[in-house]
Amino acid sequence: MQLDNLYQEVILDHYKHPEHKGLLQEFDVQVHHVNPSCGDELTLNLSLKDGHLILGWDGVGCAISMASASIMASLLTGKGINESQPILDAFVALMQSKGAQSGDEEVLEDAVAFAGVSQFPARIKCALLAWMAYKDASIQIRK
Ligand code: ZN
Repeated sequence: MQLDNLYQEVILDHYKHPEHKGLLQEFDVQVHHVNPSCGDELTLNLSLKDGHLILGWDGVGCAISMASASIMASLLTGKGINESQPILDAFVALMQSKGAQSGDEEVLEDAVAFAGVSQFPARIKCALLAWMAYKDASIQIRK
């Protein structure tokens, strides 16, 4: 077990300098998700303008949960909703891989930094918190 695997530099960077943090003034959907096992909390705003997603979030929690929200929001902002689905699926598959996958950088970009987290079952929910919130919000916004 190597802590290096858990706290990649890109994760710490996003934790210290989160992107798209701050709730949107106008949004189509708002969801609030918690990860009770760690105490992470996240509010996610989702807006769809001319077919492009705009994400905003706020939350408190561990470095992994907050960095994951930051990376996800920067990855999905500007994408179309259908374009976001394979990215979400790829991240969930990566988290379920128990360290066996390193992730497709072309699809996941900075989110491949979480590959190591998939070896730590207690932390997988931290990494997935924002993505599950997005999954929920994206289902609601399609309605
Ligand atoms: Zn956490």
